[in-house]
Order: sequence, then C-alpha cells, then structure tokens
Amino acid sequence: MNKPVDPNVSNFIRNIIDEDLASGKHTTVVTRFPPEPNGYLHIGHAKSICLNFGLARDYGGRCHLRFDDTNPVKEEEEYMESIKEDVRWLGFDWGEHLYHASDYFEQLYEFAVKLIKKGKAYVCHLSQDEIREYRGTLTEPGRESPYRNRSVEENLDLFERMRKGEFADGECVLRAKIDMASPNVVMRDPILYRIRHVSHPRTGDRWCIYPMYDFTHCLSDALEGITHSICTLEFENNRPLYEWILEEVFDGPHPQQIEFARLNLSYTVMSKRKLLRLVEEGIVSGWDDPRMPTIAGLRRRGFTPEAIRDFCDRIGVAKANSVVDYALLEHCLREDLNQRAERTMAVLRPLKVVITNYPEGQVEYLEAVNNPQDPSAGTRQIPFAREIYIEQDDFAEDPPKGFFRLAPGREVRLRFAYFITCTDVIKDEAGNIIEVHCTYDPETKGGTAPDGRKVKGTIHWVSVEHSLPAEVRLYDHLFTKEDPNEGDLSENVNPNSLEVLTDARVEPRMQAAKPLERFQFERVGYFCVDPDTTAGRLVFNRTVPLRDSWAKIQKS
Ligand code: ATP
Ligand code: MG
Repeated sequence: MNKPVDPNVSNFIRNIIDEDLASGKHTTVVTRFPPEPNGYLHIGHAKSICLNFGLARDYGGRCHLRFDDTNPVKEEEEYMESIKEDVRWLGFDWGEHLYHASDYFEQLYEFAVKLIKKGKAYVCHLSQDEIREYRGTLTEPGRESPYRNRSVEENLDLFERMRKGEFADGECVLRAKIDMASPNVVMRDPILYRIRHVSHPRTGDRWCIYPMYDFTHCLSDALEGITHSICTLEFENNRPLYEWILEEVFDGPHPQQIEFARLNLSYTVMSKRKLLRLVEEGIVSGWDDPRMPTIAGLRRRGFTPEAIRDFCDRIGVAKANSVVDYALLEHCLREDLNQRAERTMAVLRPLKVVITNYPEGQVEYLEAVNNPQDPSAGTRQIPFAREIYIEQDDFAEDPPKGFFRLAPGREVRLRFAYFITCTDVIKDEAGNIIEVHCTYDPETKGGTAPDGRKVKGTIHWVSVEHSLPAEVRLYDHLFTKEDPNEGDLSENVNPNSLEVLTDARVEPRMQAAKPLERFQFERVGYFCVDPDTTAGRLVFNRTVPLRDSWAKIQKS
C-alpha cells in the first residue's frame, strides 16, 4: 500500500509501443487527445489525457490536442476554452499542436471523392429508418440499398450537389460500399457524410454536409502523423472500418488504433449527456459544481492535479472494463494534501466556552505548527482569550462511554493552548446548552502539565473575538447508488449531497486566504476556499474528510 507508483510501469499499450520502436516500425511516438467540445471534461477524460500525454512525455514524442468538432453545436466556444484550461491545469501541454477536425473538411471531401472514384462509396437516398431496417441485425445479414450500384459518374455528380446544398437535410447520405453481409454491423455500408444545413462555429456556412466520426477520425489521425490512436473499448468494432478507410484512401503511414477500458467510478456518472442533464435540470449549480466529476468541479472542490495524476497512474490501463471505488480517488487526494496543506483550526458548529479564571481583556498569542509534514511551512501565532468557541460535539453533558472530550468536571487539552476543566453548563429557557464555563490551568501552556498529569482528549478551538465568520459547504456523493445508471438518474440523486453551515468560525489568518487555497482544518478534514468568497464573506468547500476508508480496505 501507498507505494509510489512508477509512471513508467508497463502496460499493454507501452508493450506495443516498445515493440514498434524496437522493430523500427516507428521512430517516434505521436498520440492525441481528441475531445468532442460538447461538454466539460471529466475524470474519465483525465485518464485518457494522462495516458496520451504521459506516453508522449515518457517516449520523448508529442501529443496533439484535437477538437473533434464535426458535429456543429452551439456552446462550442465555452467548452473548447474549458477543455484547454483543464488539460493545462492537469499539467500537460500540446505546444503548437492544437488542431480541429474541421480544419480537414476540404481534405476529407477529397478523400470521399477518391473513394467514390474507386467505386467504394455511393450516394444513398434511403431514409434514415430504411437504412436502419436494411442494416439487419447481429443474427441477420443486411440487405443492399437499391442505390448501391449507381455509377461512379452519377455518385460524383450527386455528392457534389450534396455539397452545393441542392438537397434537404436527410434527403440522402454518402455511404461506404463495403459488405452488407458482414458479421460486423459497423461494416455494413456505414454512412460517411450526412446533410445538415447548420452553420458551424469555425467553418460558418461553407459546408452543409458534415463527415461522420468514423470517417473523420482515422483520416485526421493519419493527416497529423499520429502513430498510436488510443481510444476506449466501445470502438473495438469500429477498428476494421478505421483500417478499411485508411487502406482505401491514405497513402502515407497508417496510425494504429488501440483500445483500452474506460474509467468508471462508483457513485457518479461519466457521460457528458448525463452531466449536462444535471446542469440543465439545476440538480447542480453548474459544470464546476464541487460535486461534479468534471475536472472543473474537482478543482473547485480542492483537488490537486498531482492527486488526479497519481490516481490515473494507480488505476492503470487495462483491456477489461471495471468500476473503480470513489474512495481510491479520495485516498490519493488525502495523501497529497497531507503533504502540502497547511493546518489551521476552524469550528464548524460553534459552542461558546468562557474561561472564567482567565483575565478579561487579556489576549496572548500561542505558537502553532503550520504543517507537521513540512517544517519549511513554519509556524504561526494564534490569539487566545477568555472566550473561545469549540465544536458542539466536542462537549457532552452526559458523556457516553468512550467519550474523551469535554464534559462536566472533565479536563481536556486545547490544541496549542492549555488544559481546561468544565465547571458549569449554561442553558436557555428551553434547556438548550448555550455556553459552557471552564477554568484553565496557567501551568499547562503549550499543552503539557509540569506535574506530568495526562488528559485523554485534545480539541480544537478559536477565539470568539478574533475568529472570522465563514460559510462551510459539506459535500457527499451526488448519487445514492454505487451505479447511478441503474434506474432513473434523477431518482438516484442524493438529497443530502450538500449541507451548508453558515455559522462556522475560522482563524484570523484566513483573511489572507486565496480562492482555491487548501487547508487541513485540524481534526475535521481538508477544505479549500471557494471562489464565491468575497472580502466580507469567506466560503469554504470541504474537499475530503480525514477518515480514509480506502486505507482501511487495504489494511484489512
Ligand atoms: P461521453 O460519452 O461522456 O460523451 P466521449 O467518449 O464521447 O464521452 P469525447 O469527448 O469523445 O467523449 O472523449 C475524448 C477522449 O476521451 C476519447 O478518446 C475518449 O475515448 C476518452 N474518454 C472519454 N470518456 C472516458 C472514460 N470514462 N475513461 C477513459 N477515457 C475516456
Ligand atoms: Mg465522443
């Protein structure tokens, strides 16, 4: 457990690359990350990013960022900007290799013409429903389209007229002429081009025919000199088509498509369509809601790029689909934050304590270590005074067995401060505890007693007068089911995934905290400053609690 992972750890993709380099098939490694700009990136994309950019880094090659923008969509611009920001934030750089599939529209058109001229593509006037019906099933072969044997001349003419806008949406398509009886349904004369009279964010109204993914992807890879085109397992059946198209029209070296298992994570969904639904239905506050599995959401939640990269290294790359435990992601985060997050004291649900033998008006500054894991983080001075806040659940009027915190007559240690003993409990008319009175032992400054007596509990606190008010947002899984895809998504939403505490109190040092800065609230968990924070109102997100269920699983 917790063994550092060698980023060069072998996997089946690295084995393929090693062989290709050894045999001289390739002298360099060129990969690509090809997102469709129709949503924000999520943790599954991070796996693909770490894999593709990681291979390029480790083999001294390069990785392209290519927007797969063959499908004209509205908010593309916002999505493209977010994707670039997220890849950079994860620590990767495409240098000058930023591409768009739409850059290749003219070349792709020429490749289609070449296919037609070879008698390997035809314009088909069957409707969408008819095409589906003619396709057959896994057990039945398909039937040939009545338009399948049009002459090359007729097809060239029709395809040109498709481009010129002479046909309406859906009136006809360009199809590859492969094999309607193929056992692989993908190979039954797949559609290569369809008509959409829609303007495209980058090419405007220049085109009204748009190439399909299967046609675009392999050729974009080839045009860019990609050596290893890594994609997820759903594309395994498309590999013969990927190779068929290149074989028919592309003269240079052919990239190799390699499939790996996509990341699935418990208690969350990864499909952009479903994530968009959460945003649109207002189930979350936006793509960067800290409960979202998006990179933007994880960043706002307080994740570090290092923790996400470590997670991607640990889950590795395999050929079989599986579901990764969300607790592993949190474990990687805790390991990282434990090293780098400064400690501070914060009281989430305050209970006032009056130290009756401490002089009124007196303030003293006590030294506290910022990070026991990192001496270079230094120390700070925290104000101590007669009135402090402690956590409500650090006091019990009638303590159960095994409760070692504050209770009537009990002595506990205040972290970095003194021993205090509870002498009195003050209640309102309704019987609610509103204040606790204690005495302190001035001899125990710094937390040790000169007579050697011990206390069982140490609790955190802040000064009433000096602490700052804060809002603290506590998060839980967005879904109640390990696999939220079972049944209706909205019925699986966890109604308690967000709890907002408005009366929290934090150390005065938080005045200087910057958005997204991360801290460990001692004994409570890791938190980060939410960008909603303003000069007058501090807002914190709970990044992750301290308890580590993954470490427990590993030990047992
Ligand atoms: P979605 O189904 O959420 O729309 P997608 O696969 O259509 O996802 P793309 O933008 O096309 O999203 O994905 C870009 C790249 O990221 C692809 O190479 C894809 O294989 C990879 N990818 C997407 N989801 C995952 C995942 N869960 N695990 C690993 N890689 C993924
Ligand atoms: Mg896709």
